[in-house]
Amino acid sequence: MRQRIIAANWKMYKNPQETRSFCESLRKLLPIHMEKNIFIFPQSICIETLKVALASTNIKVGAQNCYFENEGAFTGEVSPQTLFHMGCSSVLVGHSERRQLFGETNESCQKKILKAQENKLIPMYCVGETLEERKSNKTFEVLETQIQEGLKDADLKKLIIAYEPVWAIGTGEVATPDIAQEAHEFIRNTLKRLGNDDVALLYGGSVKPENAGLLAAKADIDGFLVGGASLKADSFSEICKTNLTRPVDAAR
Ligand code: PEP
Repeated sequence: MRQRIIAANWKMYKNPQETRSFCESLRKLLPIHMEKNIFIFPQSICIETLKVALASTNIKVGAQNCYFENEGAFTGEVSPQTLFHMGCSSVLVGHSERRQLFGETNESCQKKILKAQENKLIPMYCVGETLEERKSNKTFEVLETQIQEGLKDADLKKLIIAYEPVWAIGTGEVATPDIAQEAHEFIRNTLKRLGNDDVALLYGGSVKPENAGLLAAKADIDGFLVGGASLKADSFSEICKTNLTRPVDAAR
């Protein structure tokens, strides 16, 4: 049974003090029953602070990246084993900023996904096409390759996928509900061929309280990965309420 999920990607924002005050505000705004469907991905350096601030809640904490080895001479990298020991439930893999700025490839994503799963972390695997790829009608081809290569040998039952068209991330330009649904349906069908289409599929790209409702009404959009609008407790909680009050297959 698919789950509705909302995730916050804080990117390289929020210091420990800001992390604590966000949590104080969020707890006042959010009904307790929604907590278990929410993930927050802070900078790695704030994971411990966030864990403590959320200790009496069911909100899950994740990391924005990890390496594909548990330990060793890999200066500056983040160990998936340590993330698990720190209480993380999940890790983002293949965010477009990591692909574009830090040379992440489908191959490195695949190694990270396997290592994360080995350490009981749920990978939240990010896929999505650039504007150039969309304009040259390569969207489905790109998505298929990212899925086939990135998920090779992965356990499809312990996975979340975020469809994040690169042209919509941090640009204010959101995909229309129909464009997002078309891509989600394609991803769902691709996963079906690989053996499990019961995977939560999140949309990410300039999601705000104002556009979340129409996106959440689409049959294959199970939730959101939210960047900018997750930095303020009031806009993030509004998005959570919009999405988490709907049955998962409302439009089917
Ligand atoms: C993201 O960083 O994953 C994201 C979707 O950012 P934004 O919501 O700001 O577009």
